Amino acid sequence: MLNNWNTPVSELKGVGPKTAEYFHNLGITNIYEMLNHFPRTYLVFGGLKKISELQNDEIAAVRVRVDMVGNLRRVKNKMTILPIEVSDETGSMVIKYFNMPFMAKAVSKGGYYVFRGRVKKAGKEFTLVQPRKYAYDEYTELSGKFQCMYPLTKGLKNSTVIKAENSALKIADFTDDYLSEEYRNKLHLVSSKEAYRMIHDPSDEKESVLGRRRLSFDELFFFILYLRKNKELLKGAPNSCPMVESAEVKRFIEHLPYKLTKGQSKAVKEILEDLSGDAVMNRLVQGDVGSGKTIVAIAGLLNTVANGYQGAFMAPTEVLATQHFKTVSELTIRYGLPFKPVLLTGSVTEAGKRKIYEEIENGEVNLIIGTHALIQDKVVYKNLGLVVTDEQHRFGVRQRETLAGKGVGPHILVMSATPIPRTLAIVLYGDLSISAIKDMPEGRSPIKSCVVGESFRPSANKFIKDEIAKGHQVYIICPMVEASDDEDSDNELRNVVDYSDELKEALGDRYRISYLHGKMKPSEKENILDRFSSGDIDILISTTVIEVGINVPNATVMMIENSERFGLSQLHQLRGRVGRGKDQGYAIFMTGKSDEKTTERLGILAKTTDGFEIASYDLKTRGPGELFGVRQSGDFAFKIADVFADADLLSEASDLCDEILAHDRNLHAPENALIREEAEFYGRNFLDFRTI
Ligand code: ADP
Ligand code: MG
Repeated sequence: MLNNWNTPVSELKGVGPKTAEYFHNLGITNIYEMLNHFPRTYLVFGGLKKISELQNDEIAAVRVRVDMVGNLRRVKNKMTILPIEVSDETGSMVIKYFNMPFMAKAVSKGGYYVFRGRVKKAGKEFTLVQPRKYAYDEYTELSGKFQCMYPLTKGLKNSTVIKAENSALKIADFTDDYLSEEYRNKLHLVSSKEAYRMIHDPSDEKESVLGRRRLSFDELFFFILYLRKNKELLKGAPNSCPMVESAEVKRFIEHLPYKLTKGQSKAVKEILEDLSGDAVMNRLVQGDVGSGKTIVAIAGLLNTVANGYQGAFMAPTEVLATQHFKTVSELTIRYGLPFKPVLLTGSVTEAGKRKIYEEIENGEVNLIIGTHALIQDKVVYKNLGLVVTDEQHRFGVRQRETLAGKGVGPHILVMSATPIPRTLAIVLYGDLSISAIKDMPEGRSPIKSCVVGESFRPSANKFIKDEIAKGHQVYIICPMVEASDDEDSDNELRNVVDYSDELKEALGDRYRISYLHGKMKPSEKENILDRFSSGDIDILISTTVIEVGINVPNATVMMIENSERFGLSQLHQLRGRVGRGKDQGYAIFMTGKSDEKTTERLGILAKTTDGFEIASYDLKTRGPGELFGVRQSGDFAFKIADVFADADLLSEASDLCDEILAHDRNLHAPENALIREEAEFYGRNFLDFRTI
């Protein structure tokens, strides 16, 4: 079936050279990648409403007459507002377009149009913000339909993606399905062909759920297949990097300015025992945000280095890797530790990398901290003894295989704040051992959280000012980097760039406000974070790049804009950035939506600080169409599957893998040819699958 799945995107309808480039920016180069670019959510076009029926904050469509196109207003230096007065037989309202001056020419006075957008009500006045315009016939055609909303990139429109996906659906060869009809029936899964159609062009919610279910199964199945193939590496391998418990670790821990919590001490003890035991270590340290996992990892790495081995410390983002590098470097100096650390990330220059590779190979450095650049082919370790992976489960599993493939069998330690149930851990990792840190460092009080709407903004601003006056710092999270030029976007989402301008205006010049997002140059990001951690920035406006790991104990307020757009676990992770020191931490969850469901869902965050409870609740309350994109949480980084929501699929996929491999260990039987072929395709995601 995969015969033509590497057809380049440029052969799809509506994809010229420019558009192809946008897709490349999203990592989409061929049909396979196109079809595996899933919608982040679906939009349903409701029936037309009358102006008098509109509710504050809802997204609605009205058929109205244009009474007057107002004058373009310029606000601040960058923004323009275009007001358009419209009416129907029940009332009148104003439409506002931000930074879309061309809309003045797109409508004519006296003309009738359908506008669909978010309703804002102030007093008796209704406004429709940034609505999309349709001809009446066009809208009736769409009405009741499900429209896919895809993750986009600058320049790329949702409608372009829809067209390309539909064209890919037509071209892609779906003749074979690795899951036979018999299995599909047994597992209640639709065919691969149906699944891709249902996810990209569902006629109703039920279809999107069915499509998602099959594609999640595929993702889990091939992941588990991959794990099983490498099972011997995961299970009971002998300890090829034996260590003794170094006195250095004890001395270091005794000299820390604080006492380790019970959970931390136990984790350290278990790690040291593993390192000196008979079998290679394969351990997960699980502890909620702020429970102090970093120091536990450092203790393990210290023992490794003191025994003459090298250690590697991997983080999912450069930002976090850089922070770990700084922490370790400081501790090294302060306590005279035997670390010779180096930072290796994707943004190190080629020449710089070559030098680092050399230092790693000849043992001049003994602690390598970085992103996945650490495990690339070119890195040859002299004597790697321990690999720690922070905040990314799957990464830990994968990189173990890669390293093992290089003929080294280091100990593996995975640090995570995502609470995964034990049964799940076993499916995912085989005989992984778990150290759970259940207690928080002494003197911490739980973060105080509230869920609020726009009307709370003045109070929020005042609160922020008060905290800064006390010498504290503030994070504000926005879902977007910059104003979207996506005309299909259905929401007025906050973006860091405009937001920082607005905030400067609202709060005045006294405050030092900066922003941070993933698209900035690594050196810029580093500079901003440096200044924030040394207290030179009062308010940091950021996207979720700071979601995991970042530690600035002086920051006490975390305000999240459009919090309805995030998963609960993700919000919990984000608020974990504050309340990490002796001072009370606060989380303000701003929401543009005031409906009951949203308030109730977010409300759980105000009720509990237990990450596990939050994850389970998230799972129970997520709507079926809401399992994509920004709302996905956790550090497994599956594209579509969710190890919580799909726990049943996970165990079914696991059973099927076992059944198949029991008969055909190397997938050489003709009846498994399709599985093998597809595994090689999926291998892209799982690095060395081709080596089976
Ligand atoms: P996480 O588990 O989220 O990775 P960190 O390891 O970043 O948490 O620790 C959060 C903060 O708590 C850091 O500032 C760290 O120095 C501090 N910390 C860690 N352990 C303790 C402890 N036992 N007592 C007091 N503070 C601690
Ligand atoms: Mg951490």
